[in-house]
Amino acid sequence: MAETTNNETEGKRSLNFIEQEIEKDLAQGKNGSKVQTRFPPEPNGYLHIGHAKAFCLDFGVAEEYGGVCNLRFDDTNPAKEDTEYVESIMEDIKWLGYRWANVYYASDYFQQLWDFAVRLIKEGKAYVDEQTSEQIAEQKGTPTRPGTESPFRNRPDEESLELFHKMNSGEIPEGAMVLRAKIDMANPNMHFRDPVIYRIIHHPHHRTGSKWKVYPMYDFAHGQSDYFEGVTHSLCTLEFTVHRPLYDYFIDELKEGKDLDDNRPRQIEFNRLNLTYTVMSKRKLLALVKEGLVAGWDDPRMPTLCGLRRRGYTPEAIKNFIAMIGYTKFEALNDISMLEAACREDLNKHATRVSAVLNPVRLVIDNYPEGQVELLEAIDNPEDENSPTHTIEFSRNLWIEREDFMENAPKKYFRMTPGQEVRLKNAYIVRCTHCDKDDDGNITAVHCTYDPETRSGMPESARKVKGTLHWVSCDHAVKAEVRLYDRLFNVENPGEEKDRDFRELLNPGSLTVLTECYVERYLLQFKPLDHLQFQRIGYFTPDKDSTADHLVFNRTVSLKDTWSKMNK
Ligand code: ATP
Ligand code: MG
Repeated sequence: MAETTNNETEGKRSLNFIEQEIEKDLAQGKNGSKVQTRFPPEPNGYLHIGHAKAFCLDFGVAEEYGGVCNLRFDDTNPAKEDTEYVESIMEDIKWLGYRWANVYYASDYFQQLWDFAVRLIKEGKAYVDEQTSEQIAEQKGTPTRPGTESPFRNRPDEESLELFHKMNSGEIPEGAMVLRAKIDMANPNMHFRDPVIYRIIHHPHHRTGSKWKVYPMYDFAHGQSDYFEGVTHSLCTLEFTVHRPLYDYFIDELKEGKDLDDNRPRQIEFNRLNLTYTVMSKRKLLALVKEGLVAGWDDPRMPTLCGLRRRGYTPEAIKNFIAMIGYTKFEALNDISMLEAACREDLNKHATRVSAVLNPVRLVIDNYPEGQVELLEAIDNPEDENSPTHTIEFSRNLWIEREDFMENAPKKYFRMTPGQEVRLKNAYIVRCTHCDKDDDGNITAVHCTYDPETRSGMPESARKVKGTLHWVSCDHAVKAEVRLYDRLFNVENPGEEKDRDFRELLNPGSLTVLTECYVERYLLQFKPLDHLQFQRIGYFTPDKDSTADHLVFNRTVSLKDTWSKMNK
């Protein structure tokens, strides 16, 4: 649950604990009463809905308190980063409706960070270590047992300085040396046990090319970047809580004791967004893409923002979901059905209602004149008072859902079964008579008769029938492919299954492709990101693969949450 204050009673949304902290700082006049935040993605993958939780807060509080939020690419590991990711990140943030004041790159500060590292070496506060990463790890100790000092810890500063230059000139192979801060090998906070602050990477950088061969580690780049930019509130996820003392330590060193009490970024941590039945780690998402286990970063089953967008999720649905789960100090696993509910709620307001038959069987209205076509009016969106309408053709041969007919139906079956009346949506009441079958007993057509006095809107149409079915006219409908999506993984928390690789937990039924669907012709004019409700079925959007000759639709979400019920 989100932490609240009592201003809910004043009709205002309650403040989360971060907003409360910011208001306290503002009340005390800290940082000249300004608010500056940043969203700091590493451009090594596409953004997922977890990142959206972070940047909705970063941009949200800046907006709320008249401050600015900058976009900063945390590009300190050239081996994994790429401009493709930079561009997708910008697109996704804009899609959710946010605008940054400036775009910065951690690589803009490489010179300043280098100079700072050189200063620390000269002051005896950093040294070049020639041990392997395994040796360094072995010497770390445990939280209750002090670590062991490196044999290189007390080498002369000049020697470290010379080696640091060599590390950066390309003379030293990757992994052969690192620069470590000389702090305290017995500190109960393991991050203070001489953390590695620079490593060698020979891979060219997406912005600085081959200028640098040494790159700062996260802890040596993030806080300083915040400080250089004038960030006041550095909001990040809970796993960084243990890094906060080191974050403060390097800023203190950087400031050399100047105005220590204010004008410094303040790190505040909040809980991550974790969704059931998916993974949120970029490393795992990248593996799914690279190994072809999904169709790309924007596969509609992915929790990435581009995947959700392609699937038909709206920015409002995502933002409403994020507001609903709130920001707290406690890790949680968020139920994906809450996200789906937020999506249904939003799409219900905006989606255009249309007819589509996904699993068709022919319905013949035996007493309807051959060759006659009626144009019926259908309301695009009954939730909207001023909704436009569109026309649908009605004729003797229709497609209906195979599931909407049953030859020997139980009592409470209100759909099509011999002898029973149903209404065809926006059209007439029909009475089912019989069905045709092939030699194997498969139903090839359903027959019925219609009552011409019951057209929707006619007085007779008030007659009560229990079932209303959707349909499309065989001669007028357009064939389409429909892609149905289910949970990407079979288990609630695939990232936490210790003994099994996450790949083994993928749901083999996460994608069903239906190629024999029929949709009304009206659908030819819709484009990707238009939102549709296939009546009685669910919400859909045209896929980017869709063409006039081959329509393709993605199911965004079903109309009702049948999944939760089925699996309880
Ligand atoms: P990785 O998955 O590789 O560890 P990351 O998801 O942390 O990477 P970054 O690019 O470093 O990727 O993330 C940018 C910001 O987004 C960070 O401030 C991070 O705290 C935040 N963030 C990342 N994942 C989540 C999440 N699931 N929920 C909330 N915030 C997140
Ligand atoms: Mg990260």
